[in-house]
This record gives sequence, structure tokens and C-alpha cells, in this order.
Amino acid sequence: MTAHPLFDITGRTALVTGSSRGIGLALARGLAEAGCRVVLNGRDGARLAEAAAGLPGEVHTAAFDVTDGPAVAAGIAEAEERVGPLDILVNNAGMQLRAPLLEFADDDWHRVLDTNLTSAFLVGREAARRMTERGHGKIVNICSLQSEVVRPGIAPYAAAKGALKMLTKGMCADWGPRGVQVNGLGPGYIETELTRPLVDDEEFSAWVRGRTPAGRWGTTEDLVGGLLFLASPAADFVGGQVLYVDGGMTSVL
Ligand code: NDP
Repeated sequence: MTAHPLFDITGRTALVTGSSRGIGLALARGLAEAGCRVVLNGRDGARLAEAAAGLPGEVHTAAFDVTDGPAVAAGIAEAEERVGPLDILVNNAGMQLRAPLLEFADDDWHRVLDTNLTSAFLVGREAARRMTERGHGKIVNICSLQSEVVRPGIAPYAAAKGALKMLTKGMCADWGPRGVQVNGLGPGYIETELTRPLVDDEEFSAWVRGRTPAGRWGTTEDLVGGLLFLASPAADFVGGQVLYVDGGMTSVL
């Protein structure tokens, strides 16, 4: 049995930011396995080449810092010239710093906001300039369960991810009329390098399992189905939404 044609994204070109490892790499693999031409992004060219070698199909790399406006503009222009027009953009690059708010340094605040929020504006705007010209495109912003809820020590990250949810809706309002559909995907607690200290903290790890209706941490593969849906024609009339893939955690007290 073949998949329903509404889910067919064969031959599309997709850029996934922050895809040298973790969630971004798993999402890029999912897109590649669905028949997309994939462009991997991160700051380290050698690491990207290594990641690309492990993926099936046509995979390219574009090393640039998503917080650097001119580098973003040059990186997207160069990627389109080399690979072709982008059909799908996944704004996934992100980082976390955990500290009590009273001790949070100015520089760290800016790093968290720049990497998790401003990056989506910079890369999204650059891609959307081209997508709106062509009249079609899909953008998926990787939000977080912390777009909805917050714990002590993580306020700047939650502020960035909460704002990313609203940016997603705003992008949809601005670009939807020009054929570009924008949505968010909100992972719950997923085992990656970013969450390694939390996974290794047995007490916290058990708390996650206990608070998640699905009773476990998520894997990067858990997120692939949601992304493929949002990137496909099946989601053409879905706009400005965040699909939480969190084992149910944001829904329960
Ligand atoms: P990782 O730390 O494992 O990976 C982060 C990726 O982002 C790396 O590929 C890194 O590449 C890239 N990156 C970081 N900063 C930049 C930058 N300035 N420019 C370009 N690339 C950059 O994180 P995860 O895979 O866990 O997280 C991915 C996304 O999912 C993030 O947005 C995160 O907030 C979100 N998320 C994660 C959750 C989790 O439980 N893991 C839960 C909810 C949301 P390099 O360092 O080589 O540049």
C-alpha cells in the first residue's frame, strides 16, 4: 500500500537549520527518506559534511550562523543557487542556558533570544522573500512545550519559544495570503545533546517520565511524522498552529 498522495513531498527542496545533530538531523533524515532534496545547516562545515554522509538521497550542506543577518542572506542565496528554489524551511536551530533569572547575564539573555527567536525571523524572512515571489512554500518553526509552560531556571528560553509561537502566527498572517504556509512543531522532552544534563539527572528524568502521559522521554524520531504532515499538501489549510509532540505533557497538570 502506498501513502496517500496528500502526504507526497517527493522532489521538494528543504532547508533544516541546526541539522548537524539532534532533532534537526532526525527531521532532515525524515525529509530525505520522504524523497526531498535536503540542505543541512549548522556553524561547523566539517560536522555538517559528516552528518550529510549518513543521510540517503541528495543532501547538501550550507554552513552559516543563523543569528548573523548578512551570513543568513548570503547562505540562503548560495544554497538556492546551488540546490534550487527552497520549498520547505524548518527553523530548528536553538540552544538553552539554564540559570536563575536573578543571575542571568545580559549577554546570555541575548544569546538565548538571538538563537531561538531572532534566527527564525532572519532565516524565515530571507526564505519567505523568495517563496512569496514564487507563490508557494512551507515554513515550520520548531517551538517547544516551553512555548506554553515554564519551570524555574529556564525563563529566557521559554520567553523566546513563547514569542516564536506568536511569530509563527504573525508569519502566517503576513505570508499566508502569498501562498506560504507557516506552522510550528512543539517538541516535549526529547533526548538530545541539548537535554543531556537533564537525561543524566535521574531525579529529573524520572519526573519527566512521571509527568508525561506517554510515560517516557521522546526520541528525535517521534517528531518526524508531525513535520512531514506540516510540510505536506495535507496541511495546506493548517496555518499559524503549533503541533505539540510531547507525549501529552502540555495537556496535563
Ligand atoms: P542540539 O543542541 O542537539 O542541536 C542544536 C543544533 O542547532 C545543532 O545542529 C547546532 O549546530 C545548531 N545551532 C545552534 N546554534 C546555531 C547557530 N547560531 N547557527 C546555526 N546553527 C546553530 O539541540 P536539539 O536537537 O535538542 O534541539 C533542536 C531544536 O529543538 C531547538 O530549537 C530546541 O530549542 C528545540 N527543542 C528541543 C527539545 C529537546 O527536548 N531536545 C524540546 C523542545 C524544543 P552547531 O553547534 O554545529 O552550529
